[in-house]
Amino acid sequence: MDNELTIGFYGAAGEVTGSRHLVSAGGSRVLLDCGLFQGHRQESQDKSRNIPFPPESLGAVVLSHAHIDHSGSLPLLYKKGAEAPLWCTPASRELIALMLKDSARLQEADARFYNKIHADEGLTISPLYDEQDVERCLSHLRTHDFGSPFAAAPGVSVSFHNAGHVLGSAMVQLDVPVRGGKRRILFTGDLGRRGSLLMRPPAPPQGVDTLLIESTYGGRSHSPLDGLSEGFAAVIRRVLLEKGKLLIPSFALERTQEIVYLLEKLRREHGVPPIPLYVDSPMAVEITNIFDKSLDDPGFTSSFRAYAAKTGDDPFGLETIHYVRTKEESQALNDKPGPMIILSASGMCEGGRILHHLRNNIGKDTTTILFVGHQASGTLGRRLQEGAKKAKIFGLEHEVWAKVETMPGLSSHADREDILAFIAAMDPKPRRIFLVHGDPEEQEALAGSLEAAGVRGVARPKFGEVAALD
Ligand SMILES: [Zn+2]
Repeated sequence: MDNELTIGFYGAAGEVTGSRHLVSAGGSRVLLDCGLFQGHRQESQDKSRNIPFPPESLGAVVLSHAHIDHSGSLPLLYKKGAEAPLWCTPASRELIALMLKDSARLQEADARFYNKIHADEGLTISPLYDEQDVERCLSHLRTHDFGSPFAAAPGVSVSFHNAGHVLGSAMVQLDVPVRGGKRRILFTGDLGRRGSLLMRPPAPPQGVDTLLIESTYGGRSHSPLDGLSEGFAAVIRRVLLEKGKLLIPSFALERTQEIVYLLEKLRREHGVPPIPLYVDSPMAVEITNIFDKSLDDPGFTSSFRAYAAKTGDDPFGLETIHYVRTKEESQALNDKPGPMIILSASGMCEGGRILHHLRNNIGKDTTTILFVGHQASGTLGRRLQEGAKKAKIFGLEHEVWAKVETMPGLSSHADREDILAFIAAMDPKPRRIFLVHGDPEEQEALAGSLEAAGVRGVARPKFGEVAALD
């Protein structure tokens, strides 16, 4: 038996998308996540397509959570020959079944559109996978609850722990035997905050030798939730006054449900007048249904569970919310006067219905675009966030007159203090810490903060690097 223990970093290394880490232990290969790369279309497609290990050699695939930058290349992996079981939590199973099918449809539509407008130049792209590939991938799914260990592959025992990031999100603990003992590896996936509205904060398991920790906001501190409520309330009051439209590009998973919950809190606790809210994303509507079915999930905070019980298990069914399903209903919003909030995907403005709302409203000074999630570099969301005065949408350039604001406090990612507190709670300290899932400047800042706190053994692996663990 090959006793060598290594970790290969094949995505989310010095960037925030394409999460893919390969653990080789005791002769087994276990892949942690298989996410889609996002950003510049051609470059990210190429990176997603290139799988730098034979998919058929995997003994298990373990998914931390359902977000597409962690799960979105799974169908491609199984299309290219993987046969291994795909492990995740029960809530993630429900979520990825929906999200991967949606991803296949989005890719097919995107390829059709790209090929049409580039036909003269002879440029074509093809989708990474189709719905059949998604079905093949889903047939390999196996679920396990938080807490108890299970044998994921020969010689590799896995346990899931609440990551506090989104519904179903897990930290993945791997226990592997090595010569003269055993090693414990912890992969945080995306790590939640200590003060999240919906999710319980993550607590680290003990006895971890090697830690792979996300670092999306490793160099920053989020504003506390109280300040956030006031900031959000101020934006809503202004939109009401201007009778404008507030566009919130939002991930369908978690952020949408969190904002619905926050609006209700603002009404109760800050006296913010009601404002019509249109949730314009079929995916968000379906995911909200999964939340409704999962209200007893152990990942939710006790205050949210108590609130949900008070509403008769219908926490997202407020009177002012309209769940938009059809394309016609979505287009009708163009002619409807404000004030209103439109919550629509995708969260980084790279596709989906948010694009047609941007096209129709970005040139009006009564419009506010509010970013509530991380915007990866190379995306339209990041360009707008950085103050672009012009934006290309569906191939046409638009002047930006809308106000653009960012509310990082709503993030479902740990900030610097959350990460430092998480590591401080680990006993003994891991001997090796690998910072993954973060832009280089965030990672550099976090590495500096960790060093100042006396934490040793911190590395920032590059794409393709393989670390040997002794
Ligand atoms: Zn995530």
